[in-house]
Amino acid sequence: MPSFSSFFEEAWELDQNDPLGKYRGEFYLPDGKIYLDGNSLGLLSKRSELALTEVLDSWKKLGIDGWVQGKRPWFYFAEDLGQKMAPLVGARPEEVVVTGSTTVNIHQLVATFYRPQGSRRKILADVLNFPSDLYALKSQLILHGYSAEEDLICVPSDPSGRYLDEDEIIAMMNEEVALAWLPAVLYKSGQLLDMEKLTKAAHERGILIGWDACHSVGAVPHRFAEWGVDFAAWCTYKYLNSGPGGVAGLYVHKKHHGTKPGLAGWFGSDKERQFEMAPEMIPGSDAGAYQIGTPHLLSMAPLIGSLSIFAEAGMEAIRKKSLMLTDFLFKMVDQIFSSYGFETGTPRNPKQRGGHLALEHPDALQISRALKAEGVIPDFRPPNVIRLAPVALYNSFIDVCEAMKRLKQIMDEKKYQHYPTESKEVT
Ligand SMILES: *Cc1c(COP(=O)(O)O)cnc(C)c1O
Repeated sequence: MPSFSSFFEEAWELDQNDPLGKYRGEFYLPDGKIYLDGNSLGLLSKRSELALTEVLDSWKKLGIDGWVQGKRPWFYFAEDLGQKMAPLVGARPEEVVVTGSTTVNIHQLVATFYRPQGSRRKILADVLNFPSDLYALKSQLILHGYSAEEDLICVPSDPSGRYLDEDEIIAMMNEEVALAWLPAVLYKSGQLLDMEKLTKAAHERGILIGWDACHSVGAVPHRFAEWGVDFAAWCTYKYLNSGPGGVAGLYVHKKHHGTKPGLAGWFGSDKERQFEMAPEMIPGSDAGAYQIGTPHLLSMAPLIGSLSIFAEAGMEAIRKKSLMLTDFLFKMVDQIFSSYGFETGTPRNPKQRGGHLALEHPDALQISRALKAEGVIPDFRPPNVIRLAPVALYNSFIDVCEAMKRLKQIMDEKKYQHYPTESKEVT
């Protein structure tokens, strides 16, 4: 078994040569902790904090006039942020708006673009997607008078229970499918699907396709516009560090602009005419049309700061470091932790890997509790997955090394056995 000191040496070297290392100091890292949970809730940056205080200040000083006055008039905030976020998903500026939550945006997109015709009325999803996505899809089918059981068809997982097989997804894209909704990166295993290939396959079969980019945005580059992706949604409180309850992203390809929103509300109006207060809505001509009500300014403000870091650091550099971090984890698991009964449940091929590594162990819940007690913050996903997300903007290679050193101690001393095996809390 190699010694940890050689890993520490390697980590030190990697940190020395890390072009993104300078951003770590811009974030509030929880005191004394090694935070590896940025794929659940990203950390606060000083720039985000400042952006939030600026919006509070505009409220303090301007009151109602903040909608149209000040440095960043609130009335245009959602569209402005959408423009700033567009490069992260490879969209045109007018194709993205910051609005709602992921789940609400899924409802909006399905309500808008699910147009069953005759026997082409099924929605294609997968069994490994985040539950909220499936709940939303099922309730949309029921609202249309269809059956959640028969009309939602889910691609099964491979025998390991971790991954989806892209060819199997394509094989299920038949003439009964009207719309497909798939995760770009699977939230548990971290598998990254080939969005370009699957989008093309869907279109060749007359199917509209949308992507849930919650676990890919901010970790993986996207080229939605170029791939012709029809629509997408993602949350911003994970890798994009917008804070708890941060407002989500929504993308609609230009070719669909002008399609009436399925769930209409006055903030989807043409901005120049919204205050005519007409009884008939005049929808906007860009992705802004799919907003519903008044934007949640205070939960959007932190994105101003956070997106400025992404714009500066660049997605390619972020992706490169992220892969190096998960590669480093793979190496340590292979050389040290397989002998403790750990397995990795994430694709090794970088083209198929998102931003985190799933570490599997039969005692994963107890081990993740022990890790927390020892100052390492991972998260646990039942039944046996510990997710480790080293985030390129604020984690170092030494972080990863130190976390794994503590894990080894927990295993050597069997400390995890002191923790309960039932689960209740938010992790
Ligand atoms: C995090 C996540 C969500 C959360 O949706 P909210 O509406 O923000 O609660 C939904 N889907 C996926 C795939 C996620 O990873």
